[in-house]
Amino acid sequence: MPKKQFAIIGLGRFGSSVATFLSQMGYEVLAIDEDEERVQDVANTVTHAVSADSTDEEAMRALGVRNFDVVVVAIGQDIQASILTTLILKDLGVPKLIVKAQNELHGKVLNKIGADKVVFPERDMGLRVAHHLISPNILEHIELSTDYSIVELRVPASMIGKNLKQLDVRAKYGCNVLAIKRGNDMNVAPSADQAITEEDILVIVGRNEQLTKLEQAYA
Ligand code: ATP
Repeated sequence: MPKKQFAIIGLGRFGSSVATFLSQMGYEVLAIDEDEERVQDVANTVTHAVSADSTDEEAMRALGVRNFDVVVVAIGQDIQASILTTLILKDLGVPKLIVKAQNELHGKVLNKIGADKVVFPERDMGLRVAHHLISPNILEHIELSTDYSIVELRVPASMIGKNLKQLDVRAKYGCNVLAIKRGNDMNVAPSADQAITEEDILVIVGRNEQLTKLEQAYA
């Protein structure tokens, strides 16, 4: 199967980091920004870097943006430009459109006009940092929906030596241990009698409020 091709529009901190990482992973990346200097900054990293205004439908058509598998619109501050760009790319028939939103309202509009996925990098990173501050044992927090998340919990001292049956997070907190990470190994079918060691990381899914209770209990 040929590798997916990506176009990234808006080369601020977010857009340029998405573009650079995809390139480093060996993917074809078209990077677009109206600011020539931003384009130059990534020109040596990505496959093609072009200066263009993404609210110019003809320019987007001429660049063949609709032929890319995924297009990421990473324009933040100029909400009008972000919305117009999204509309234009939807009309051109881009198969998958991922758009960065500046705030909840911006996100709502983007969803309404057909963005396939709306991301809130600042909000999500803020949430992660806050979770980590409340419970330093939380290494990762992934929102599955507004109500459910997956967390990675570094094993607190009180868990060491116990097994999943004894911990019984399902009955106590209504959460499920999906997997246990140990170094580079990942046990995705942990058994109830597996004893937990100091180096383990538990991957747990649950409702947000239940996970918070569990995080606080083991903070
Ligand atoms: P970040 O937080 O990722 O640094 P940001 O949310 O502050 O970015 P901006 O700096 O407003 O977002 O925009 C990101 C980039 O998008 C800028 O480099 C800007 O030049 C570019 N941009 C804005 N409008 C357009 C447009 N119409 N066409 C092409 N690029 C645009």
